[in-house]
Amino acid sequence: MMTLLEKLTQPNYVKHIHSLNNREVIEYLSEDNSISEDEVCQILSNFLQYNTVYDLDLTDCTPDFKIISIENAASSASLYIKSGINNYLLVCNPFSTSQISFYQTKYGSQYDLSVHICPTDLFDEILENYIKSYSTLTLNESLITDISQNSTVENISLDSIHDENNEIIKIVNSIIFDSLKQKASDIHVEIRDEDLFVFYRIDGSLINVMNLRGRTYTEQVISRIKILANLDISENRIPQDGRIKLSINNKLIDFRVSIMPSIYGEDAVLRVLDGQRLSKNRQKVTLGDLNFPQLILDVFKKMLVKKNGMILITGPTGSGKTTTLYAMIDEIRTGLDKIITIEDPIEYALDGVLQIPVNEKKGLTFAKGLRSILRHDPDVIMVGEIRDNETAQIAVQAALTGHLVFTTVHANNVFNVLSRFRYMDVDKFGLVSALNCIVSQGLIKLLCSNCKVIDKDYIKNDITKIEQKFNTTIDLSNIRKAVGCSNCFNTGYQKRTPINEVLVIDDVIRTHLINQDDFQTLKKYALQHDKWIPNTIQLFNLLNRGLIDLKQFMSYID
Ligand SMILES: [Zn+2]
Repeated sequence: MMTLLEKLTQPNYVKHIHSLNNREVIEYLSEDNSISEDEVCQILSNFLQYNTVYDLDLTDCTPDFKIISIENAASSASLYIKSGINNYLLVCNPFSTSQISFYQTKYGSQYDLSVHICPTDLFDEILENYIKSYSTLTLNESLITDISQNSTVENISLDSIHDENNEIIKIVNSIIFDSLKQKASDIHVEIRDEDLFVFYRIDGSLINVMNLRGRTYTEQVISRIKILANLDISENRIPQDGRIKLSINNKLIDFRVSIMPSIYGEDAVLRVLDGQRLSKNRQKVTLGDLNFPQLILDVFKKMLVKKNGMILITGPTGSGKTTTLYAMIDEIRTGLDKIITIEDPIEYALDGVLQIPVNEKKGLTFAKGLRSILRHDPDVIMVGEIRDNETAQIAVQAALTGHLVFTTVHANNVFNVLSRFRYMDVDKFGLVSALNCIVSQGLIKLLCSNCKVIDKDYIKNDITKIEQKFNTTIDLSNIRKAVGCSNCFNTGYQKRTPINEVLVIDDVIRTHLINQDDFQTLKKYALQHDKWIPNTIQLFNLLNRGLIDLKQFMSYID
């Protein structure tokens, strides 16, 4: 049997270690070699020429959370600590060379940074003790009142986080601040048993970025979020929703907050609404920015010159439907037409567009807002989402009476839209007459270009079946699969791209739809007459270029 030291000279073994996340490495090596985690640290220390945590007198040290923030320390399993003029980097994964060299080049020349390997359990214990001793204040009732009264718009920056004395405020501010740095779309704060788990949704995947142990944190962190969102902190048995407006590095950012009771307490989700993303100071999103294939762009441009009718986008939540609608509106915005939207929530501010937010509490629903909009003499209307019969009927009427209507509805694909409307009990004739085109949109995960590898695990038989079904060939030599590295938070994926299917409605298709002919007849006609662009065109293109893996590909193939 090989020793750990011998295994460390095997490229495959090292490669496997690199695929583990920072918190798993030492535990894995300990179990795989039947030696203790302390022994693993010693062997790695000799092999890699680093020190271990046992070489340090921790009682003399203080953490520098300005260099590695509390939640970054927790998620990356690394800690920057100081003792006098000495600087130490504590790491649970000494193989994470990018991380180590980052701090060495950034601070090493100046401070002579020494690296110390630490078992993960001990690391968590050290971090927890530092976090506890780092703060002198505890959150109490009087402080809560003070904060809520003084909170107009708080400014959060690295300095303000560092100077903040209240530990809970510091943690919440760090969670929010880092979410923007990492370009997260949502922040999930979950409580399980006594512990607090923080996740960021980045490119569609939930990434665990921070865990805090103990009830002291869990309840106070949720309370702090509720205070910021002006919610009732004494109420913890019913769902609540609100908004937070914060100035972050002097830029105003909105968050939509949802609080949900759970068996352990409450969960919070913060959706980041970056209002300046599309405002005049920033680059606006155009159809050209969204990576649509030329075939689809051509269809969009033809549809957007029409003066009436309905353009319907369908797809799951978070698939970028609104962004596509905004880009379409941008395309037709000349200043000569009155464009009015009703949305829940307004995701971006659009120049020259009257945007109305839905406010269910005050009785401003989609349906009510839409009725008012029609009295406001619009040319183009965007309805954020059709969820009920009333909104659907008014939107159809608007499209039939000389308005161009953009809207979205939840459905799996373009052909399922009709049954979705049937379910809402919408008049079929009106709807089918109003429709100009249906677009389905999904976002597919792209493989991380840094760590993807050639995939040889595919089943030849499955591939042949797909090739036969779609009458195409798949370039087997280009199939890649996900691995995971520090660049992609160990998910193996990075960024997403839209996958679309478009059905243009002409009179023949209208007749098919009204007669409820079977979809095969409809698809055959639509394909022959260039009225249907199936999403398989994009899917095969991405697969053959090694940009998506078979798993993602198959999830879109019926
Ligand atoms: Zn990667």
